[in-house]
Amino acid sequence: MWKDILGQESAINILKKTIKQNRLGTSYLFFGPDGVGKTKTAKELAKVCNCQSIVGEQEDSCGRCSPCYKIEQDIHPDVKIIKPASIHFLISQIQDLQKEVYTTPFEGKKKVYILDKIDKMTTEAANAFLKTLEEPPANVLFILVTSSLEVLLPTIISRCRPVKFNLLPEGIQTRIFPEWGLEPTRFHLLAQASGGSLGRAKEYLEKGIFEHQAKLSNEIENIFKKDNSFLLISKIATQIVDFYKKENIELFLEIFLVWLKQSVNFINLYQAIDIVIETQKAIRFQNANLQLVIEVMFIKLKEIGKG
Ligand SMILES: [Zn+2]
Repeated sequence: MWKDILGQESAINILKKTIKQNRLGTSYLFFGPDGVGKTKTAKELAKVCNCQSIVGEQEDSCGRCSPCYKIEQDIHPDVKIIKPASIHFLISQIQDLQKEVYTTPFEGKKKVYILDKIDKMTTEAANAFLKTLEEPPANVLFILVTSSLEVLLPTIISRCRPVKFNLLPEGIQTRIFPEWGLEPTRFHLLAQASGGSLGRAKEYLEKGIFEHQAKLSNEIENIFKKDNSFLLISKIATQIVDFYKKENIELFLEIFLVWLKQSVNFINLYQAIDIVIETQKAIRFQNANLQLVIEVMFIKLKEIGKG
């Protein structure tokens, strides 16, 4: 939802207005400094295009339906974030893109291609891509993202509607978190866990989830330290399920992912993320037994933790 993006009111207002007036273009160019929410905003726009709960010219996504969830997790088949495969985009990446843009969406309303670091295109790749921009397929939205506008081909720029992103107002979190009664030592985890989203940070705090997670973290660490930890795993899984219940269990997994990313020293992060995402899918789409699914997740994580 748009409220999850901080400090980019002017960019978001432009987008909301075009959606409301039903004048969404085929290609946009999001430009501005790194780390201020350009890709996040692109994903939000993809959600608005594909959200199941949207009626008419409503300009915000629900953030809860299956397409919104899949886009957030980068697993929606019609919404792709494409980055340079090496130091540059390869010409084959552009050719692959050209082959698939003219097919109809798999399950969504609109295919959205977010091309991140579009400045990393060789002239050859850019010229190939230009052809696609000049003959835009129906039901496709291109969002080009860059922090270096000056190196783009002018012909590419002229084909897109530009949206400018600004530096975030300084200390957006350090200003707001104390108002919520949060101690400075906890800023970091909360800021990380909420991905720079104040809306989400507030939700975590209000539900007491952040407090609970802080206590749980030590125990979870013990799973990896102790040899025979099945009883501990079972106990922790019970605590998690009792506290979060089915309706909030995905919040637990989101925060847990952030915690894992900070614990790379004893675990293979890429494998670990896969395991957590599998768990998310099992819960969301397979109506699985929560206790069992969480236990299995910890057992699998412990296995890769040894290596
Ligand atoms: Zn939705």
